[in-house]
Amino acid sequence: MASKTKFDSNASSECICDSEKEETVEHLLLECPKNIEKRLKLEIITNIKLKVENICVLLECKRHRNKFIEYCIDIAKEAINRNKTR
Ligand SMILES: [Zn+2]
Repeated sequence: MASKTKFDSNASSECICDSEKEETVEHLLLECPKNIEKRLKLEIITNIKLKVENICVLLECKRHRNKFIEYCIDIAKEAINRNKTR
């Protein structure tokens, strides 16, 4: 990989939501209050609570998997843009 971004799980930095929180992929996808709206939308569409234990459930169903991947890409893009401009 040519350029490392903060979305890379090896890089560590605090999240914009809380300086105590590390901006990891897991935090952004599952915990970060900044993404709560998107997370709720996904939960409503899939009717599955978004947490670590349920990721495999989401990935099992093709329809859910596509929605989940869209959600991940959306959040990844945001994080990359944010870290570019910071
Ligand atoms: Zn956060």
